[in-house]
Amino acid sequence: MIVPNIHLTETLSIKPEYQNNSGVSGNKFRKLKYNLEAVNFLKTKTILTFGGAFSNHIAAVAQAGKEAGINTIGIIRGEELAERIHDNPTLKTAQDNGMHLKFVSRSQYRDKESPTFLDALTTEFRSYYYLPEGGTNALAVKGCEEILGEEDKEFDIICCPVGTGGTLAGLINSSSPHQKILGFSALKGDFLNDDISKFAKKDNWNLITDYHFGGYAKINHELISFINRFKLRFDILLDPVYTGKMMFGIFDMLKKGRLSGNEKILAIHTGGLQGIAGMNLKLKQRELPIIKI
Ligand SMILES: *Cc1c(COP(=O)(O)O)cnc(C)c1O
Repeated sequence: MIVPNIHLTETLSIKPEYQNNSGVSGNKFRKLKYNLEAVNFLKTKTILTFGGAFSNHIAAVAQAGKEAGINTIGIIRGEELAERIHDNPTLKTAQDNGMHLKFVSRSQYRDKESPTFLDALTTEFRSYYYLPEGGTNALAVKGCEEILGEEDKEFDIICCPVGTGGTLAGLINSSSPHQKILGFSALKGDFLNDDISKFAKKDNWNLITDYHFGGYAKINHELISFINRFKLRFDILLDPVYTGKMMFGIFDMLKKGRLSGNEKILAIHTGGLQGIAGMNLKLKQRELPIIKI
């Protein structure tokens, strides 16, 4: 589905990838597209993948599996979540969509790529299609190369939130030579540079690491308030884990002159709106202001 860009201001536009498909949408639709094709060639149509409590990737795989008749297994970080699944809209919905959830401790999760752990998974689940955490592999990057189109050549700067960097790599690969791609890290740490370099075929990009708000899924009052003001002003909802942090960063960089007001900027709204319900539950428990939807 091709949805036109939305012009926010004279220099800033949004590509509404959250509307790119009627089922699974956002960058997860792009990342899964060719992986789902690959699974369909296999005899055992089962995807096994990994994620945490708010994972948009887990939500997307479960939904895609339900739509396509593919079995899905989610290896979930945090044993304690097993008893609290009813408080977790992301995991609850994934389970309702037929995903088999296996909860593992944080230390086991850290070792999830070790041969011992993978052997144990093979013994338990036999044959499956392995999709890494966040769903980033070569086929995912190929799908993300389809985000930018002819109509986007007029932009000088393309901005995108970054988790594992697969989406950013796809954007880099399909960008024009005159364009600069800025990734806004939603996680703490510079380790992402290596992952992005693995898949990116050009070097017209930069990773911005000043707007992770303390780390993955960490938020504060300032961010929630920004998301609510943005919604009031533009009538576009941002998620707190990825797109909210990117957009906060863009506005802050414009204010500080780190981004010039003369360049045309395209911000990719990668989706992730399913995560708002879970975040709001957490905010309510802490008696903090919530994201208004
Ligand atoms: C998963 C996700 C990202 C991060 O994508 P990567 O390819 O892992 O960098 C960004 N935005 C949203 C909304 C996501 O769900």
